[in-house]
Amino acid sequence: MRCVICGRQTDERYCPLHDRAYKNLVQGYEVWKHALDINWLEYLKRVAGNQSTGKWAVEVCQDILTQRGKTLKE
Ligand SMILES: [Zn+2]
Repeated sequence: MRCVICGRQTDERYCPLHDRAYKNLVQGYEVWKHALDINWLEYLKRVAGNQSTGKWAVEVCQDILTQRGKTLKE
């Protein structure tokens, strides 16, 4: 298999770099959802739109939103 985002060889959907970014997103959401009334997709849109979010994390956000049939523009 190859990472769906960057095409690196991997056994998972994401390569290790994108997988780490994904896990960070999940951890971040655990914190946010307690502080804010926000769902997973809204959270991903906010994170992706934040200037301080790293490139890897933004790419993972975009991938997940695309899977759900959403774009960052919506
Ligand atoms: Zn990757």
